[in-house]
Amino acid sequence: MSFNDFLLDTEALAVSEEARLMVRDEIDPEYLRAMDRDEIKFPRKIYETFARHNLLGIRFPKKYGGRGLNWVAAVAAMAEIGYLGTACGCAYVMPDIVGEGLIRFGTEEQKMKYLKPMLEGKLVAAEALTEPRGGSDFFGATSRAIDNGDHFLVTGQKRFVVGAEGADFFVVYVRTNLDPKASPYERISTLIIDRSPKVEVKYLYGLMGTRGGGTGRLTFRNVKVPKENLLGPLNGGALVFNRMMIPERITSAAPCIGGMRAGLELAARYTDRRMAFGKKIRKFQLVSAMLARGITLMDASAGIVYQAALAADRNDPRIRRLASEAKRFVTDNSWEISNLVMQMMGGIGYTNVYPVERALRDARLCQIWTGTNQIMDLMIQHDYYDELLKQTGKYRQSELDAENATAEEEKIYDDDDMWRVLETENK
Ligand SMILES: Cc1cc2nc3c(=O)[nH]c(=O)nc-3n(C[C@H](O)[C@H](O)[C@H](O)COP(=O)(O)OP(=O)(O)OC[C@H]3O[C@@H](n4cnc5c(N)ncnc54)[C@H](O)[C@@H]3O)c2cc1C
Repeated sequence: MSFNDFLLDTEALAVSEEARLMVRDEIDPEYLRAMDRDEIKFPRKIYETFARHNLLGIRFPKKYGGRGLNWVAAVAAMAEIGYLGTACGCAYVMPDIVGEGLIRFGTEEQKMKYLKPMLEGKLVAAEALTEPRGGSDFFGATSRAIDNGDHFLVTGQKRFVVGAEGADFFVVYVRTNLDPKASPYERISTLIIDRSPKVEVKYLYGLMGTRGGGTGRLTFRNVKVPKENLLGPLNGGALVFNRMMIPERITSAAPCIGGMRAGLELAARYTDRRMAFGKKIRKFQLVSAMLARGITLMDASAGIVYQAALAADRNDPRIRRLASEAKRFVTDNSWEISNLVMQMMGGIGYTNVYPVERALRDARLCQIWTGTNQIMDLMIQHDYYDELLKQTGKYRQSELDAENATAEEEKIYDDDDMWRVLETENK
């Protein structure tokens, strides 16, 4: 049975079963090892295996190569595929992220030219937001596209673009409104840029983990991009970005569930066999408590992922907050679980005899990419204040349940309140 099968309907269960069997039977361990050794720079073979099973972008319409399934089914498949580690997980979810931009903002021609072949495994996409000058300050992007008649001329640099090494096209955010007074939200556009000799791709980072995922730097020097490759409105990149961030965050979280499961299974099997002081180490409560904590964190993580998936399926307005919470919560738990797993395994966990140290190196990235967890916190609190402060009278006001709830003279929030109270008392 698939992971969390009781949460899934028949369709989601069937697709997660397919993913589980593919992960179990069709991925060569030596290929994964070669990726971690940086000998394979992009897992195209694995990407093509996903495509052969029609598992890429399963929530997109069949017409474009998907399966017309929902978000819940998609995250169920991601939770299985995440078992292979973050680099494969990322290659798997990239069509979901890029596909969101194409399905929501693309013209029919763009969908047929890019979305369909991408879901068929014929094209690989990458998404380029981060620049050497900064990733968190996304709207400060300086790469630019100059209007030159029927095309743009693009100049600039993007860095840490995962999948760059294997990509056939890039979804790139560039500045198109060069007016210095233009609002940051109205000066960026999204372009689809085909790979060409003019787009320099350098695979140059000595990454701590998530190796073999193709992370590279892109340099554009007067790259000619036809106007029909504008995705969404001119200067409307913020719209595309805000939409793409939903799958970006959900898909950063969902594959982590598979990684957690892989680690906890290793630790459970190990502690069930390893002996110390004449008994299995799982019999020491300090050890089994680590496993209990890890399992609980994994299940709580799956819970928040499915919550976000349901919100996405139902177009709930809270989706941005829930997707950010999922990314934040799950990636932090993924890091904690990899540490618990290593701890449960003792010294051998710190070697490459078990893939535990690789999982730990992989997990650390998840707190950084697709928007750092600090940026997630900014989004979560922002959206929560927004929701709460607009809402009055819907729920019981717990404030009134306090013994001294009517002590208005003590409910001072600012200077004006204090003076108002003083003036009232003086009257
Ligand atoms: C392996 C890898 C793959 C990646 N893949 C991609 C990809 O495919 N496409 C892509 O575009 N990018 C990708 N990234 C980039 C990633 O998204 C950025 O690294 C990340 O968003 C952070 O940006 P930065 O590195 O410039 O750090 P900075 O933005 O410089 O942040 C540095 C620190 O400052 C904090 N900080 C910054 N601003 C604030 C604020 N307002 N409030 C609180 N704290 C703040 C951050 O949280 C962080 O702790 C990848 C990165 C790596 C390492």
